[in-house]
Amino acid sequence: MELRLRNYQEKLINKVRQAFIDGYKNPCIVLGCGGGKTVLFSYMAKQSQDKGNTVWFLVHRRELLDQTIETFNRFGIERKTIHIGMVGSYSRNLDKYPKPDFIIFDECHFSAAKTWQRIIDKFPDAKIAGLTATPSRLDGKPLDKIYDSLIVGDSAKTLIKNGYLSPYKYYAPTVTDLSSLTKKRGDFDKEQASELLSTRAVFGDVVKHYKNLADGKQTICYCSSIKHSKEMAEEFKTEGINAVHFDGDTPKKQRTKIIKDFRNKKIQILCNVDLISVGFDCPDVDCCILLRPTMSTALYIQQSNRALRFREGKVAIILDHVNNYERHGLPDDEREWSLNNKLEGQPSYQENGELILRQCINCYNVFKSSRICPYCGFENELQHQEIENIKGIELREIKDKKEEEAKKIVLDYRKPEDCTNVEELKQFAKNRNYKSGWIYFQMKSRGWM
Ligand SMILES: [Zn+2]
Repeated sequence: MELRLRNYQEKLINKVRQAFIDGYKNPCIVLGCGGGKTVLFSYMAKQSQDKGNTVWFLVHRRELLDQTIETFNRFGIERKTIHIGMVGSYSRNLDKYPKPDFIIFDECHFSAAKTWQRIIDKFPDAKIAGLTATPSRLDGKPLDKIYDSLIVGDSAKTLIKNGYLSPYKYYAPTVTDLSSLTKKRGDFDKEQASELLSTRAVFGDVVKHYKNLADGKQTICYCSSIKHSKEMAEEFKTEGINAVHFDGDTPKKQRTKIIKDFRNKKIQILCNVDLISVGFDCPDVDCCILLRPTMSTALYIQQSNRALRFREGKVAIILDHVNNYERHGLPDDEREWSLNNKLEGQPSYQENGELILRQCINCYNVFKSSRICPYCGFENELQHQEIENIKGIELREIKDKKEEEAKKIVLDYRKPEDCTNVEELKQFAKNRNYKSGWIYFQMKSRGWM
């Protein structure tokens, strides 16, 4: 197969070239899930090789290694001076491989500073490029220690508009009250979340919504713990839906079989906690079920956007049972990425106090800034918190108005001697913004005290 870039990929490569010309050495390149990252980097590696450079293409997981090699083979890219390997083993054997001119780090939001830094320090003259869909580590640590510039490709929204990612419908049927969840190291306590979500009623609700909204669709179900994930899979099975649990400890042979069965649609649902960090090459899925509440926008995007890989005629379904959208907006919202900041969640309310994203109580769809549901036409009522917000805003407006009026300068053309009593003097002083000492002085000089 011939490797041909799509125009947004070409645009991105030109930006990277320009960054190197401008003197940047370590750009971090952002391209959304489903944007064809591995293809893009294979192309960059090939170009560099064609110029006579030695290239290291480093990944952090064995599965990614296999996938990357497979991509090179698929496009018939010879590996004369391209070395594909694992970050860990290369960092321990820096002298074993030919010295690189160009180092590529795939999935660079996993950059564990020490290992990657060792490689960078050893080859100060090499150019480095990192590639990720979310330039923010899932643990929120910044990436600016390694990368010196951020090059952002077309957003998920643009890719959907141009037919490179599938459009989606987002549903948020609440299955349980998660308001008692506490946080641990910046994110929700996974064990606690898992406990809250591992009840018969919740399992039943999840299965029911899957059947109603996404029946038969190839689905990835993100759970809060391994135990939770295993139980959820069992629950689907007892309802006649073939689901399996899958994690980093699943033996490789078994994993390969699971993925094969999933591709062949013998398995409908993959339940997991951390497939993403396992470097799982996601087959085409039509639906994601979110059962892991998170504060990490990066994790949220990595999970929900898995369903958006393009297929003609597909409309992806996202079932968010843990209100992640309230914290992070919709999967294709435009985001301001930065290398040195943790990505903040989206604000929940508009300036007028109403929700930015609303969940239709009739059909569970989530949509933007309107009370009338664009999916079913139902007119949703303001929620309690919105009414409180609006009351608060009105009160503030009344208060501001009063203060504004109090601040207004009253034009007072009288002279001090026009004041015939103490009250008038006080009013006069107030209009001219005079201090009380002035009133005292006036009274005294007139013999009023
Ligand atoms: Zn609706």
